[in-house]
Amino acid sequence: MKLKKLFFAGMFFCLFLNSCAPFSGGQDEAGEKRKFKEVFSWGRPTSGETARKFREIGVTHIAATNEKEARLALQYGMIPCCSVFLPCGPHGQVMTPEEEKLFAYLNGDDLKTLPRKEREKVVDARRTAKCHRYGGEPVTAPDVLNSFRIACFLSDEGLVLSRKKIDDLFAKVPSARGIYLDYLGYTNFKDCRCESCTRKFESAKRKNPSLSREEFFRDALVDYYNKVIGYVKKKHPGAVVHAHIYPTFLPEPLYGNRTKTDYCAQTVAWYFPWDKEKIIRYTRIVVNDAEKYHKGVKGIPFVGLKALPGTSLAAKSPALLEEELRTILSAGGDSLSVCNGMDMIKPGYYEVFRKYCGK
Ligand SMILES: [Zn+2]
Repeated sequence: MKLKKLFFAGMFFCLFLNSCAPFSGGQDEAGEKRKFKEVFSWGRPTSGETARKFREIGVTHIAATNEKEARLALQYGMIPCCSVFLPCGPHGQVMTPEEEKLFAYLNGDDLKTLPRKEREKVVDARRTAKCHRYGGEPVTAPDVLNSFRIACFLSDEGLVLSRKKIDDLFAKVPSARGIYLDYLGYTNFKDCRCESCTRKFESAKRKNPSLSREEFFRDALVDYYNKVIGYVKKKHPGAVVHAHIYPTFLPEPLYGNRTKTDYCAQTVAWYFPWDKEKIIRYTRIVVNDAEKYHKGVKGIPFVGLKALPGTSLAAKSPALLEEELRTILSAGGDSLSVCNGMDMIKPGYYEVFRKYCGK
């Protein structure tokens, strides 16, 4: 009985809080609807039913890995984008010995003899114990990416490999009207220590002694972004470019506005919960400073989403997702980019997106 009373008291408290919020149920005080107008999903319209659901929750742009998905997207009024361009290079990036050791540990390189399931369990426990953040802003040092060693795109001279990859993606999805970019960054969130990159940095430093390592690798990354985008625009006129600025770049996490990305998604709410103040601060920077360096760049708040709990990558409840969406709206965000996109249409999450993004 006592518990029941507490439950009802709690419920009324929540209702009271809701009525005091600046806007409730997608409406502000003036009764105007406050919703996200453009929504980029990293999911795919794998069937008519999923396409319909994505449309119902207000998705405007969606990834497509083949022509069937692209046509479904168009049929349901969404813009299909080739998915997904990853940086290309002749070899993998190189890290410091300490970072290499951590990368091997987080990926279980020493556990190759174990059965797969068992190995995954140990790897997952290691990631939890090390407070690994999956390429988002780290909470411990060092932290590195897992699973995927990014190619040394700075060594893709003349963009030879990258151009071919972009052309292949568009050829595979002729109805695509844009492209998604991901993983343009550094495996250690800072730099690449391969021979070629080291030589390039030393040469640049000789010409400009005040140049810092951080500036060199930031500018080299931005330059690569802009070359890739320039090529897409030249070869595929009218195609829109959407990028998730990922993994994080430690010296300047919100450097994305230096790139000429049409729809530049920067993380304002990671998979692992961030405090409200940080979500507000990041949303304001992402949205308000989008055109600080280039006209025509739109800043898109990115939200990490995982429905299923039970692994070292944090799950997010529908209630927490809703709170984050409200916070982003209150900070001036009017667009979203969400990964994992397929989780957007799962029960519980579908309703939240429909409320804040749907027509
Ligand atoms: Zn390199």
